Amino acid sequence: MRFHLEASFRLSADACKAEAAVSDFFAKAGPILEKGAPEGQGAKVTEWKLAGNRIDLVIDSDRFVRAHDALLRLRRPLSELLGKQFRIGVRGLDVNKFEIEVESERGIEHKIPYVREIRFEGGRLYLSLDVGKSGTLGQAEIENRIPDRIISLLEDKLQKSYGGKTEHWELLWESAAREPKFIRDPTEEMQKAGWIKHGSSRGQWIYGPEATHVFRTFEKIVLAEIIEPLGYSEMIFPKLDTWDVWKKSGHAQGVYPEIYFVCPPKTRDPAFWEEVMDYYKVTHEVPLDLVKEKIDVPIGGMCYAQCPTFWGFLQGMTLPNAELPITVFDRSGTSHRYESGGIHGIERVDEFHRIEIVWLGTREQVLEQAEKLKVCYKHIFEDILELTWRTAWVTPWFMAQEGKTGLAEMSGAGTVDYEAVLPYNGNWIEFQNLSVNGEKYPKGFTVKAQSAESLWSGCSGVGLERWASAFLSQKGLDPANWPTAFRKHFGEMPKGIRFL
Ligand code: ATP
Ligand code: ZN
Ligand code: MG
Repeated sequence: MRFHLEASFRLSADACKAEAAVSDFFAKAGPILEKGAPEGQGAKVTEWKLAGNRIDLVIDSDRFVRAHDALLRLRRPLSELLGKQFRIGVRGLDVNKFEIEVESERGIEHKIPYVREIRFEGGRLYLSLDVGKSGTLGQAEIENRIPDRIISLLEDKLQKSYGGKTEHWELLWESAAREPKFIRDPTEEMQKAGWIKHGSSRGQWIYGPEATHVFRTFEKIVLAEIIEPLGYSEMIFPKLDTWDVWKKSGHAQGVYPEIYFVCPPKTRDPAFWEEVMDYYKVTHEVPLDLVKEKIDVPIGGMCYAQCPTFWGFLQGMTLPNAELPITVFDRSGTSHRYESGGIHGIERVDEFHRIEIVWLGTREQVLEQAEKLKVCYKHIFEDILELTWRTAWVTPWFMAQEGKTGLAEMSGAGTVDYEAVLPYNGNWIEFQNLSVNGEKYPKGFTVKAQSAESLWSGCSGVGLERWASAFLSQKGLDPANWPTAFRKHFGEMPKGIRFL
């Protein structure tokens, strides 16, 4: 990796009388420019020139001390020198040229912010950054480490293999294989039995009384076996996530292809919308092009991961030790994901229902809660639902959503997927997961503990459509084939809606 930076320090006055001192300064700048780098490496000022009230510099460097870092390192000692001896201030800096070379096996076709041109030649990418005009790379961007973010982004892109991501997957535990009571697709069977019907939107279902009772029974089991014994409190998390929430939760890095965007009207003045209303009244069609003009940019999207909006409750706060661990859950609304071609039955839908369990505390408390939850889950899947299921250690969601495929770096943080076999096609589906998210959320939302210890958190999403897919595909729709413990929770089958 090579950096070539041409920049100027802007001075408060002509500095010709400081020529000798400045010359001496650059002659001795080596240690500043090499600090922290291995012997003989780092940045070099390859040219400098005093031009009235400007010092023009050319800095060339390797990856150990990046040229823009070197520039920032020079600023303060230079200011001190000019200020003390000559009463001249360093007012700011201008970037005149910034070029970066990175080894690479391939080119990059995407547009990257602040990059004017990317060339791929002889195993190297040559980047020319956009400089010199407002809105391009200047002092503020150098100070905000934009060049470093460009490099990280490049590295992420180059690391990603062609043809999609292969995520980490490692079997942790597997139940005994139970003889399936059923080998058909439960979605089709539920449709035939009149339990569910397609909603008007893609990947959306209307659940009739029978299917709804199955979902509510799952909830009842979660309440009886997890929420009550472990002392979790119910909360209501908002279901419209703003960009601000997703910036803090990390979702803003990559969630775009899978979200339903939310746009408010530009105004609620009926006169502004009259044209739309009139068009509809006359044609009985909604004039979507006109609507498009009258709605504002999206303020965020519909609930995607359920727990991010919770953190607004704690944002900027310090939690007393006695309050920890905090254990809460939400089941107040739907989640929405644009699953595109992947939708299938109730297994993969665009609108789904989840109970989200969230806990936070010290690292020990969070890991301990995770273990307690795992014990409860095991009891439910083994003794109440009697599933054929397994758990796997997988790429945590917060890395997957940033396009990474490995495991978390924090020891103990990570995601366990719960999977069940679908006898009708032999596939395994993830029906829920459990994640220890390390310091990610408390850091993102600046939540602190009273003790100096850092806060950790975890969350677990119980997907009701997925539980239903797992359970009904293995046990069928006939309660006579359901495990006794489940039937006890289920009670009477409600009367469905019949048609002529
Ligand atoms: P998948 O790999 O199946 O797409 P995911 O990794 O995207 O799942 P998470 O983001 O971990 O899922 O979401 C947590 C839980 O939410 C899942 O375990 C599942 O129960 C539920 N879930 C996620 N996406 C869907 C969907 N499209 N339809 C139904 N349930 C879903
Ligand atoms: Zn979560
Ligand atoms: Mg998914």
